[in-house]
Amino acid sequence: MRIPVRTRVTAPVIAVAVVALTSACLSSAPTAFASSSHCHTFYADEGRQYIEDPELRAFTLTEELEIYLLNGAFFPDSGYAASDSRYGEWAHWEPFPMFYIDWIRANFDAPYTEGEAAKHVMALFGIVAHGMSDAVFDGMLMDRSREHDPDHDNSQYDINVDHFFVQDQNRNRQFGAVLPFEDLAEVIRLYQGWDIDPDVYKRGQELVVTSMGFIGASAQNEAGVNRMRRNYEWTSDNYFNADVPGSLPYIARLMGRYYQAVWERLNGGLTQESFVLGWYTPRGFFDRATDHTSVESRLGLWFGESVAPAYRNSDWVVVTDESGDVVSANVRGIYGDESYPLFVRPAQDWVRDHTYTVTVRAGMETVDGTVLEDDFVFTFAIIDEEPTPVDGGDTGPDGGEVGTPDAGSSPDTGIDAGVDTDGDTPEVGGETGVADASANPTTDPEIRVSGGGCATARPAGPGVLAPLLLMIACLFRSRA
Ligand SMILES: [Zn+2]
Repeated sequence: MRIPVRTRVTAPVIAVAVVALTSACLSSAPTAFASSSHCHTFYADEGRQYIEDPELRAFTLTEELEIYLLNGAFFPDSGYAASDSRYGEWAHWEPFPMFYIDWIRANFDAPYTEGEAAKHVMALFGIVAHGMSDAVFDGMLMDRSREHDPDHDNSQYDINVDHFFVQDQNRNRQFGAVLPFEDLAEVIRLYQGWDIDPDVYKRGQELVVTSMGFIGASAQNEAGVNRMRRNYEWTSDNYFNADVPGSLPYIARLMGRYYQAVWERLNGGLTQESFVLGWYTPRGFFDRATDHTSVESRLGLWFGESVAPAYRNSDWVVVTDESGDVVSANVRGIYGDESYPLFVRPAQDWVRDHTYTVTVRAGMETVDGTVLEDDFVFTFAIIDEEPTPVDGGDTGPDGGEVGTPDAGSSPDTGIDAGVDTDGDTPEVGGETGVADASANPTTDPEIRVSGGGCATARPAGPGVLAPLLLMIACLFRSRA
């Protein structure tokens, strides 16, 4: 299926352009949305720590395979940078991951943890992490920024957050462009019928790697990054707060569960337990959660496989009130049929202290044909509470309730996740991570901020680097 090209993410190109330059060779760059490459490598990298299955976690942490995961994590965006940029958009979305999974299954024997198969699995994990994280970042963090950062500008958001991240967390990973390019070219040839030289993909990756080096360097320019922060004060204070929906640590935790779902797909098929991966319900966040016009009133649901388009509506995700009456709400993704999560936007304000029930109806199907066998039910309520400071202090804003099918209670927060698939009313309220951290010794809510590559030398400033990077960008484009 050919997905129409839309304009959203061009991390590597914008990375060059954002520092002040436009140029003939970059003038066709679409507007930047969604995460940029340092953030993407963080989600893919950090998400491994949240995989519950110890064997799968150990496999993904294999040192010599890491490079494939990291490169896969920005492969979809490299399509925007490559000389043949047609793969930039659809590489983000189903059914491409589904096709890649089938290709791995057809060409290698399970368990896919050795040799070439292992490289492909790690590349696949990176690619799926990319699409999911773009959707969650856009749907939860960027949409919050639109509301909370008065000067929000989509066109620079992703690059700015990348700068905050590299500078604040001292994460400036540097590595080479390494993927099984020959095989990937074959996968894409089979998928789309495009016979493209594998070097095109390689050069696209190299351009992204180069742009990451640039961002890593320009993020050392404190005055420049501080200028970025002025337009995104809320984001700067909250993008790394694990309690804020769509923040970087929040997405990384979600990724742990998603890897497991993709692993299931590789090894026989998605289980019912992974059909609904998790959800987010509003609860008093900034005191706006009841206001149906606010992003804070929105529910989010994540699935182990993308939900088929026919099921992305309020016939299949139903909200009812305490009387059992259906609450009018809009249910959809954020990009249309391609995006991975579904968001529920109420048509009227939520009522405080009122318990709502959300039912994902049995019979819902994914794009891969997996059918939900039983209703999946959870409840939530928006309870009164003290407004939480939003100045990024020690206690971050309350992210509301996040549940997972088997979350139980989180040892990190000690608060009930509020899941109940039988339809009884569990305790509501509280916050917990997307993934159940109980089985994982490395899930301290203080996500690790050290390690991960070496910092670059402090440059004189973007003004010096920009022309150089621009030249490199042009060179890549002319060579490819
Ligand atoms: Zn992207």
